[in-house]
Amino acid sequence: LITRLQGAENNVWREYGQLAVKYKPVNLGLGFPDFHPPKFVLDALADVVASNDASLHQYARPNGHLRLVNVLAKLYSKLLGREINAETEILTTLGASEALFCAITGLVDVGDEVIIIEPYFDVYVPLIKIAGGVTKFIALKPKQSRINSSADFVLDQKELENLFTEKTKAIILNTPNNPLGKVFDISELNFIADLCKKWNVICISDEVYEWMVYKPKEHIRIASLPGMWERTVTIGSAGKTFCMTGWKVGWVYGNEKLLEPLQIVHHCSVFTGSTPEQEAVAVAFEKELSRLGQSDSYLVNLEKDLKLKRDYMVKILSEAHLKPVIPDGSFFLVADWSSLETSVDLAYETGQYKDFRFTKWMTKNVGLLGIPPTIFYTEKNKNLLEKYVRFCFIKKQENLEKAAEALNKLK
Ligand code: PMP
Ligand code: GLN
Repeated sequence: LITRLQGAENNVWREYGQLAVKYKPVNLGLGFPDFHPPKFVLDALADVVASNDASLHQYARPNGHLRLVNVLAKLYSKLLGREINAETEILTTLGASEALFCAITGLVDVGDEVIIIEPYFDVYVPLIKIAGGVTKFIALKPKQSRINSSADFVLDQKELENLFTEKTKAIILNTPNNPLGKVFDISELNFIADLCKKWNVICISDEVYEWMVYKPKEHIRIASLPGMWERTVTIGSAGKTFCMTGWKVGWVYGNEKLLEPLQIVHHCSVFTGSTPEQEAVAVAFEKELSRLGQSDSYLVNLEKDLKLKRDYMVKILSEAHLKPVIPDGSFFLVADWSSLETSVDLAYETGQYKDFRFTKWMTKNVGLLGIPPTIFYTEKNKNLLEKYVRFCFIKKQENLEKAAEALNKLK
């Protein structure tokens, strides 16, 4: 392997995908819904197929299919309280994954430092390495010995302040956070924003779970804070928004100058995204925009449905003595299994860290698959969640009930 790829080869998604195939557990591992996307989105795609417009099957405008960037500009102009230019300030991508790739390779130069908040979505680190950047980490720390909710994981302000230097190019923010479900509050975001302004640093804000924030918590877009539009690129995902992770439609919005290098990377790598899918996503957002915040809005109901699923997961995990950290956002939660440590036999399982051994044991003996959360940490901080497991709960009720049945084996 070339140097820049070294360390990126151990891919947990592949390994745990194989475990799921082999043992057929209730799969609460990889983050994806197990039900159909909403009908109005599927209808929109069917309409594209039935349309007389032949251009809907040809290359889309490289920076983004016009109908999609137009509606995204309208939506985010409203949400951010500023006029966003559809043609210059939005780039659509193959999922948020490509947006991350474009942002990191487009903005991070060789030797630039990038600050990452742990736990972090695992691909940030190899992407920075591929770009030749240098990673700097700060872990969210439990603010009390007994952790109840994702808000109990907090940023140490002094530690964060000390990470910023002349070499800092960017900070990656992920709110709501994968895997904790932490939703950063206004004081935390202001603190990060002030440091970005002081040190002239770019914020890459990964907000793919922006519509999955449980009331009364609210999602705050850092790009909307004073002085932050000029220095933030914000990433979103239709896969998460409309429960269709297989579509791989994403976007990034931000100031024209900041976005230009991302557009170049996009043009040179994938050139343009899928036209029929972008058209259908555009139609879906047009519909949502017309009922934003109303009781018949799909996005409003998504939050409500997911909150019920979250509460159900919290209940069944607690009953099985796996102590959940209640998430304020996202469709993940982590749960502490340390009370089972003396009763489970992990001696036959492989993995350097206990969470790998526990999740493999649980897959085989309980029939339930979760993800070992140490993958979201650097070596130094893996101990923070080594006795936890991450579950994805965006699943049909009947499958969550199957998870409950499996968990009964732990009682
Ligand atoms: N960012 C985070 C935090 C994620 O959890 C995911 C999920 N895969 C992505 C980005 C990528 O999103 P997409 O599926 O749209 O590529
Ligand atoms: N974000 C999803 C998860 O955390 C899928 C992983 C991925 O895109 N590599 O489960």
